Amino acid sequence: CGIVGITGNENAVDILLNGLQRLEYRGYDSAGIYVNSQDGKEYLVKEKGRIDDLRKEIGEDVHGSSGIGHTRWATHGVPSKENAHPHVSADGRFFLVHNGVIGNFAELKATYLQDVKFASDTDTEVIVQLIAKFAKEENLATKEAFKKVISLIDESSSYSFLLMDNREPETLYVAKNKSPLLIGVGKGFNVVCSDAIAMLDQTHDFIELVDGEIVIVKPQSVTIEDAQGNIINRKPFHVDTDA
Ligand code: GLU
Repeated sequence: CGIVGITGNENAVDILLNGLQRLEYRGYDSAGIYVNSQDGKEYLVKEKGRIDDLRKEIGEDVHGSSGIGHTRWATHGVPSKENAHPHVSADGRFFLVHNGVIGNFAELKATYLQDVKFASDTDTEVIVQLIAKFAKEENLATKEAFKKVISLIDESSSYSFLLMDNREPETLYVAKNKSPLLIGVGKGFNVVCSDAIAMLDQTHDFIELVDGEIVIVKPQSVTIEDAQGNIINRKPFHVDTDA
């Protein structure tokens, strides 16, 4: 299973698909991408099976300069198109990919989301529906809604999350706990991946993330905040593929 993301590059679709293909060795049962073209168009494409099956579902019109992609190793809900990621909130605003397991998803669903109609059987969908609920009902900015939901996830859980809000289509919201995740730094664009191998054709400079941090990735910037909200400066490390 694996995660990829990009912002600030017109070839988002190809970069995401090629990245997912390089993560195939990790094993998975389904895959999907969400891309936003920044001109009011967005596309969500998912499929059960291989990346080549997903490619066949992607029409000529699908394009974007930011997006997220996922290969799934099902833990909650059978392998299917409906359960494939990205998951989208009922209001159509938020898109989320997740690797890992949310230990207390059933409690969160029962406590906060009784009135929400779910489109999948995954633990992941609870998280994106909850972000949408807090953003709307408590009028929280996306980062605050994301942080609030993360604070409600129990410690037994593991996750790497990549979140997009279609009202801020250039921004990727990133967080992790006990799952690997890297930011790849490009010139005028940035990427996110669960393994550097997915994005080595785009950059050789990667920033490692620490559990509990919230990272805001835009085409020209990467902002890392620790759990207390302090800004963290962390230099990228260089991956030398010739060595
Ligand atoms: N628990 C999530 C699901 O079953 C994510 C699985 C994964 O890591 O791919 O959809």
